[in-house]
Amino acid sequence: MSAPVSEPVVVNADPATGVATRPAKGRWLAEVLRTERLTPQMMRVTFGGAGLSEFAVGVPTDSYVKLHFVPRDAPYGVPYNADEIKRDLSPEWWPIMRTYTVRSWDAGTGELAIDFVVHGDEGVAAPWALHAAVGDQIYVTGPGGAYAPNPAADWHLFVGDDSALPAIAAGLESLVSGSRALAVIEVGSPADEQRIASAADVEFIWLHRDDPAGPPDIAATVRELRFLPGQVHAFVHGDAGFVRELRRYLRVEKSVAREFLSISGYWKRGLAEDGWRTAKQSWAQPVDDAEAQLER
Ligand SMILES: Cc1cc2nc3c(=O)[nH]c(=O)nc-3n(C[C@H](O)[C@H](O)[C@H](O)COP(=O)(O)OP(=O)(O)OC[C@H]3O[C@@H](n4cnc5c(N)ncnc54)[C@H](O)[C@@H]3O)c2cc1C
Repeated sequence: MSAPVSEPVVVNADPATGVATRPAKGRWLAEVLRTERLTPQMMRVTFGGAGLSEFAVGVPTDSYVKLHFVPRDAPYGVPYNADEIKRDLSPEWWPIMRTYTVRSWDAGTGELAIDFVVHGDEGVAAPWALHAAVGDQIYVTGPGGAYAPNPAADWHLFVGDDSALPAIAAGLESLVSGSRALAVIEVGSPADEQRIASAADVEFIWLHRDDPAGPPDIAATVRELRFLPGQVHAFVHGDAGFVRELRRYLRVEKSVAREFLSISGYWKRGLAEDGWRTAKQSWAQPVDDAEAQLER
């Protein structure tokens, strides 16, 4: 099979000037340069190689990419031609797509870091990250992304579990001196906390799943927070369970306007990402209905 290496497919150019306003989305062949166990439940994989030479990220601090994993025992390896695979093989052999945040992209060194939650043997991406070896190759598509802390906000609220920790860390790192933030982050244990550098005045609340008092309730913790004065810009992502509860709370009870709220379920317990992608629309419906009532 003939195998394309990397293909920038869309250049988002200003029609008047021809100057690119957002980085090109594309399909990139990335190579594992190194892996590092950041904390017991977080694995960092750093990618590089010639295939990423035209990769770029824009303003969003929640930039994400899709990683395309070759199913175990598939009759092909990387690099491959996705069109030929879809034409010649049955769907169980098609590459499996998973979504991950760009923890960092260094255009100087051409290094792309992605932090994977190690959530057990189930799934595709987490076990892959655990066993990734230098030289392994994988196709990456993107980047997408929509959120960056709004400088017009008086303060910033970050809420998430460890799947959102890379995006929360990137958001906090981007804040300028003089800004204020509250960050409520759930991780496996105290050893999974990360040191996050920020010029802002940040108050961290770390919750631990191994808490001897019982598993934490992230939504209840947010409900008990004393909000800072003024306009909040909130970034709330992670397990769909607490995210739905907080979406209702922030939109309906705290009246946070849509444009000051970035909120979504990054994953759902018991569902692989493919199933969650399909279920997402009906999951959001009850809160959409409650919001519609509010706006009537
Ligand atoms: C925009 C976006 C950005 C994301 N960024 C990151 C990121 O930077 N790092 C990151 O680790 N994740 C991130 N995620 C979440 C990640 O895409 C999902 O966790 C994904 O399901 C993992 O794929 P998998 O193949 O490991 O497990 P899957 O095959 O999708 O799922 C297998 C099983 O594991 C469970 N599971 C999935 N994720 C978790 C988890 N985090 N904890 C416990 N159980 C889980 C599922 O419910 C299912 O039962 C992001 C998601 C989105 C939408």
